[in-house]
Amino acid sequence: MASVVQTTRFARFPLGHFPTPLEPLDLLTARLRERRRDVPDLWIKRDDCSGLATGGNKTRKLEFLVGDALAQGADTLITQGATQSNHARQTAAAAARAGLACKLLLEQRQVRDEEYENSGNVLLDELLGAEIVDRVPAGTDMSAAMEDVAAKLRAEGRRPYVIPGGGSNPIGALGYVQCALELDTAPVPIDWVVHATGSTGTQAGLVAGLRAVHSPARVLGVSVRQPEARQIDAVHGLAGRTAELIDAEVSRDDVLVDDRWVGEGYGVPTQSMVDAVRLLAETEGILLDPVYSGKGFAGLLGAIEEGRFAATDTVVFVHTGGVAGLFGYRSTFQ
Ligand SMILES: *Cc1c(COP(=O)(O)O)cnc(C)c1O
Repeated sequence: MASVVQTTRFARFPLGHFPTPLEPLDLLTARLRERRRDVPDLWIKRDDCSGLATGGNKTRKLEFLVGDALAQGADTLITQGATQSNHARQTAAAAARAGLACKLLLEQRQVRDEEYENSGNVLLDELLGAEIVDRVPAGTDMSAAMEDVAAKLRAEGRRPYVIPGGGSNPIGALGYVQCALELDTAPVPIDWVVHATGSTGTQAGLVAGLRAVHSPARVLGVSVRQPEARQIDAVHGLAGRTAELIDAEVSRDDVLVDDRWVGEGYGVPTQSMVDAVRLLAETEGILLDPVYSGKGFAGLLGAIEEGRFAATDTVVFVHTGGVAGLFGYRSTFQ
């Protein structure tokens, strides 16, 4: 009983291959059923196959953000993220596609090794023509730092457009309203949607979009950074502002978060992440990433172990991408 949800009145610049595939994880489901009987039917939404420079969830957000930037006459995108930011890399690619310059600020949230600093997403940022204007210490006020870069560009007569970390504002979250609409029209009725949550735009858009069409599907975000209560507040806040754009309503109870899979912190590997990455690679030939989807999938496997789902449920894991990050974490896997 889908009501009409309008994302078409917002400017949008095409960047990805949508709708992304929704595939059954038959081999993994069978493998897990060897050990327990109450394993739900597991599916995967392949947002890692979004088609933009190794893919990922920021592509959907960037279609709306770049659309807005072009509508405003911008000539440069500015954004920020951790050193191995998938968002920075997808923004670099989006800028190339839209004929815009791209300036990146990278926050050194942790000290690792030479590959972390220079391989993976960092290699791709440079290949895609973005300029890494600075690498700043952990805890820097990144919004203020981006505003400084924007002010300098404006003084030179340029027209910068600042994209928040992760592309997570209501415009970016519209990308995940779009994903919710794809899930709502899937050939299988979906009971649960599980994914990694960080800067909150993905979960906020999914929750707003699913509520807008009155879907019964519940969304579980596996936190990769913040404690549960703070992440719920942040997701709920953005989901509310996103829902306003599409005339929907969300409540705090619509936002479910599990923060037990973060480990020591953002981007710090955990054994459950390594096990999850290996399991999905070996059973299904699908690559997860060490910072987000690996921890998200560990959270999904943990929820199955705890009996959180019914055997009759259909659970969709949204694969948010990040494969390029694996090359910044070689020593974790070898
Ligand atoms: C950014 C990112 C996420 C988290 O999405 P948010 O919208 O920031 O919560 C998950 N997975 C990957 C691979 C990402 O790059």
